[in-house]
Amino acid sequence: MNNILIWFRNDLRVHDQECLHQAIKNNAKVIIPVYCFDDRTYTTTSFGFAKTGKFRAKFTLESVADLKKSLQKLGSDLVIKKGLPEKIITELAIKYNIDRVYFSQEATFEEVKVENKLINNLEKHNIKTEKNWQSSLYYPEDLPFEINQLPDLFTNFRKQIEKKSEVYETFQSPSQLPPLPSPIDLGKIPTLPELGLEDFIPSPKGVLNFIGGETEAIKRLKYYLWETDYISKYKETRNGMLGGNYSSKFSPWLANGCLSPRLIYTEIEKYEQERVKNDSTYWLIFELLWRDFFRFTCLKYGSKIFYKSGLQGLKIPFPENWQLFDLWREGKTGYPLVDANMKELKETGFMSNRGRQNVASFLTKNLGINWQMGAEWFESLLIDYDVCSNWGNWNYTAGVGNDARGFRYFNIPKQSKDYDRKGDYLRHWLPEIASIKGDKIHEPYKLSQEEQKQFKVQLGVTYPHPIVDFFKSVKYNEKIYLGATK
Ligand SMILES: Cc1cc2nc3c(=O)[nH]c(=O)nc-3n(C[C@H](O)[C@H](O)[C@H](O)COP(=O)(O)OP(=O)(O)OC[C@H]3O[C@@H](n4cnc5c(N)ncnc54)[C@H](O)[C@@H]3O)c2cc1C
Repeated sequence: MNNILIWFRNDLRVHDQECLHQAIKNNAKVIIPVYCFDDRTYTTTSFGFAKTGKFRAKFTLESVADLKKSLQKLGSDLVIKKGLPEKIITELAIKYNIDRVYFSQEATFEEVKVENKLINNLEKHNIKTEKNWQSSLYYPEDLPFEINQLPDLFTNFRKQIEKKSEVYETFQSPSQLPPLPSPIDLGKIPTLPELGLEDFIPSPKGVLNFIGGETEAIKRLKYYLWETDYISKYKETRNGMLGGNYSSKFSPWLANGCLSPRLIYTEIEKYEQERVKNDSTYWLIFELLWRDFFRFTCLKYGSKIFYKSGLQGLKIPFPENWQLFDLWREGKTGYPLVDANMKELKETGFMSNRGRQNVASFLTKNLGINWQMGAEWFESLLIDYDVCSNWGNWNYTAGVGNDARGFRYFNIPKQSKDYDRKGDYLRHWLPEIASIKGDKIHEPYKLSQEEQKQFKVQLGVTYPHPIVDFFKSVKYNEKIYLGATK
């Protein structure tokens, strides 16, 4: 039972890689690492957006190329295919007399469906499978409760887990792998156009030039902790929106598994012993717990996370107003904080956590639009798209998820002043209002005719009037929400 095929998915690394670790531990004679560009991942979402937009696709291509190099250095290689994994892996497994197929277990509907199809196909040929859970800090089986008893409130989850569970050490990286059987068709990495997407040059205005792959992930980890000590101020800076270092920017590498959350955890522990242990070092782990929380929430609730009625099953009549939705996604709402963030997303594939919370609140609490449209737009564009974190956070913001506090909204003009005090972020993304001096940039709709002339802004011409009245629209949508949840 010594021929093993490893199907790489969102675990594109050789460090802390349980599939590789298990294969070596079991003295595998043959190990064939395979990655499949799944055709279904490059189609469209239900609202017609590219399911994987160019930013994430480029990042994936780079990550796969990096994994290939790492495997080559270890004496192996990566077989790259395009098509349906359940078919391709089965064919390869038969051809190369594979005894077992190892892969990382996912938590959500589409991913699990592919896993199950593959397991079925392989069973017919007496080929065994082994799933490894390796996307979170904690293993589901080590939670201090059964998954169906997972607390619905993050704080209850966090307190119990911090008290009763343990984060395991990372698996050692392999030092050598057996060569691939010969002959074998290695395939090749597709180009963006071959995936149906356009080539592009990353915008110089982005927070960071994100490059996919484990090598870059580890560089970023070293940089954020050891080279700059930014981690030691994370709690004070994490709500920023402009620049590379207000937050860790680990998310894209975490999302496709180039970076193991347990490696971050281990490095932070080491940093705390050797440099400083403070609220900031704790807070990054706290945020990783949110990530775990949404992943386990998906295990508990299955497909409910994708339903309009959300985890709570609330029947809120969110309309699909495309006219308003288009203004939101193009950054033309007349609320600079929303517009700047939506432009950043569209031009770079990234948006800060502060930004995401505000734009999602605006879509659901001011425009009252179906939050699934927003979630799919994020799914399409985000370089760090993670099924569980995205849909979990959207549920939460729309008031249909794990938030016990019902209808909560962000006061966007206030948030703008609080988190972009000098307006630098707004000026970076909205050149059309960059000349507005001081605080007034946060609310251009309050400019007098005189001020518009002075700042060379023409409301309704060079910058839009607000598409809704802020507080009236909140009141209107609150009434609908409360009416539906009574
Ligand atoms: C509407 C909405 C959609 C989101 N969609 C995604 C998504 O698709 N993918 C994604 O990784 N994050 C998502 N987030 C969470 C969060 O905004 C990003 O993880 C974060 O902005 C990434 O930047 P960072 O790595 O610098 O984060 P840091 O602040 O440095 O945090 C470190 C890590 O903790 C995790 N984390 C932080 N905040 C959250 C959170 N609220 N929920 C889950 N994990 C968190 C991430 O893995 C992050 O990389 C979403 C948030 C909202 C409000």
